[in-house]
Amino acid sequence: MNQDLQIERAIELLSKAHHVVALTGAGISTPSGIPDYRSPKSGLWERAEDMMEVASSYGFRHNPQAFYNWIRPLMRVVLDAMPNPAHFALAQLEAAGLLKAVITQNIDLLHGRAGSRNVLEVHGQIREAICPACHHVLPAEPLMEQFMNDGKIPRCARCHHIMKPNVVLFGELLPMAIMKAAQTQARTADLMLVAGSSLEVAPAGDLPELARRNGAKLIIINFMETHLDHLADVIIRADVADVLPRLVAPFIPPPVIEIDPVARPLDPGLLSKNPPLGDVSRGG
Ligand code: ZN
Repeated sequence: MNQDLQIERAIELLSKAHHVVALTGAGISTPSGIPDYRSPKSGLWERAEDMMEVASSYGFRHNPQAFYNWIRPLMRVVLDAMPNPAHFALAQLEAAGLLKAVITQNIDLLHGRAGSRNVLEVHGQIREAICPACHHVLPAEPLMEQFMNDGKIPRCARCHHIMKPNVVLFGELLPMAIMKAAQTQARTADLMLVAGSSLEVAPAGDLPELARRNGAKLIIINFMETHLDHLADVIIRADVADVLPRLVAPFIPPPVIEIDPVARPLDPGLLSKNPPLGDVSRGG
């Protein structure tokens, strides 16, 4: 179907909704220049098996040097990336009171940097690094900056164990409290907006189904087909950075123009009621 028509239908669904929840994946960050690190097609992997070997909990434990060598260029790209119009559009929809949460599979912090407040990072994030032995948590950026300068693997200041960026690796469980919050949001939503996720990686694939079972409408914006397209009310196959600002525009209040009272022209009536001060030269 014609894309403009789909956008119109999506805007109509948004205008009837009260509790919108967004679910975002790698596709929302590719316009910011971040490759999908979990995808064998990302260019980060020579072979699909490398990914499972290196970026897995097993790989991290057995060959942390390979893990850090892999994550080093990715980390540089992620730390330098800027939010794009799709991230800003979701932040504006939240500020307008319509969007209640962003559930994201991305680790790149771009939703928060665009101004989103309620962000559920189901695959972890690179804000923090954690010591797998004593659970000491530190801000990740200084550790990674240090590693990128000297190539030495960051170690825990308390127990000297190797620190792990707080991202979910292959073979690891998802953070339980965040997943529970995401499921609650999916159940509460009356509209779920999938943006830039192919819904291949669980649990992302389950959340729109959960929302749907609880009566929510479903909008999917993604370049590729997804296995839940048959459940969607609207499907838009386009770049989220183009489409999301168009969807969100009708719900953003116009900017308040403040008039500087000093610059306002004087009321002529006011002048006549206040006769000019007497001639000062006459006094004294
Ligand atoms: Zn430790």
